[in-house]
Amino acid sequence: MNRCILCYRCVKVCEQITDGRVHGVIGRGDHAEISTYIEQAIDNDFSGNVIDVCPVGALTDRTFRFKSRVWYTKPVEAHRNCDKCCGKVRLWYQGEEILRVTARKDEFGEVAKLENGEAGWICNECRFEKKHTNDWVIDGVTHVDRHSVISANHYESPEGERFEGKQLEGAALPHGEKVELGVGALDPNNV
Ligand code: SF4
Ligand SMILES: [Zn+2]
Repeated sequence: MNRCILCYRCVKVCEQITDGRVHGVIGRGDHAEISTYIEQAIDNDFSGNVIDVCPVGALTDRTFRFKSRVWYTKPVEAHRNCDKCCGKVRLWYQGEEILRVTARKDEFGEVAKLENGEAGWICNECRFEKKHTNDWVIDGVTHVDRHSVISANHYESPEGERFEGKQLEGAALPHGEKVELGVGALDPNNV
């Protein structure tokens, strides 16, 4: 928990979207830290959303931790019929494998709003247990802002020009993957 800046966002989110908040800030001054009350585990269907609101990465997904750098993964929008949440997510692929599932984010890096204006929080089942492509209906490649660190290794044209497929197809990425045109490749509407 060294990175925590005590912004309280995780506390507020738990307060708003879970039935009973079980964590908060304990201690004062230099000794203040985020903690669960009396070693109670955060165990709620929506508790994983604290990961998406933590601005410094102090709270991380245990199923993704240390598996890859985020810029080596390929984000894709997807959905499923979920009886607990909106089921609209972002899948982070490395090759054929889904390394993590997150809520969709807007241009400010916040959990994106749904058509009905509510925030698109996702449940823990969607986030932690649905890691196969068969679990999802793929909606399309995620646009990654070129200023984002995530855009490293994502071949979007900075000027909105389309690269020639011949030049790219089969080209090796720094971590050994091959570029496949189609998913995560160049889309003139996606720059
Ligand atoms: S959201 Fe992250 S940085 Fe903010 S209080 Fe919670 S753990 Fe700390
Ligand atoms: Zn769900």
